[in-house]
Amino acid sequence: MIKKFLSDSIPKFFYEFETEEPFKHCSLCNRELSDSDKYAVEKVLKQNKKINKAEIVYEYAMCWDCASEMGDEISEESKESIVNLYQDHSENVMMKLDYLHRTEKYNIESWLERCTFTGKETRVCGEYSVSGIIEGGKLLYEHSPVVVSDEFMEKMQEVLSEKTKEFLDGLKDELIYSPSEFNDIINSPTVGLF
Ligand SMILES: [Zn+2]
Repeated sequence: MIKKFLSDSIPKFFYEFETEEPFKHCSLCNRELSDSDKYAVEKVLKQNKKINKAEIVYEYAMCWDCASEMGDEISEESKESIVNLYQDHSENVMMKLDYLHRTEKYNIESWLERCTFTGKETRVCGEYSVSGIIEGGKLLYEHSPVVVSDEFMEKMQEVLSEKTKEFLDGLKDELIYSPSEFNDIINSPTVGLF
């Protein structure tokens, strides 16, 4: 049973790392994000095993127009493959969503515990990504926030078309200041699929 729940405010997790405040601009078109805007935030985290803490590798906010455009750029072939991949994991997805909505665990910590698709615990992931939708200064709990484990990222990479991979690489260059540091990162087109 999936409900739509809006948090009272934006959890700090979805704040901009540097400013410790909500994102103010779309990372792609630089448009100002007002309090009434709907936008997506994606963060990629790496587990620092030494201190047992997840560290931000990169993050961005994307206005709804840019997110929709990104969706259009993903090839039909890739979309179909991703839908199939989602369906293969739908049991896990529904289990997680049903549990969180049924027990009304509308706090970000509960949603971050496991990969949405594989159920893998994020604390044992080398790397994982989290995407959420901010609507009018609140975090939307519905199908998202979506958590993608390293395991599921790899599966996604296997099914994406070359065209889509090239597009994601280009996007990464636009969003990230020093892309060379992040060459090992596998992109997932989660935001474009919202
Ligand atoms: Zn934008």
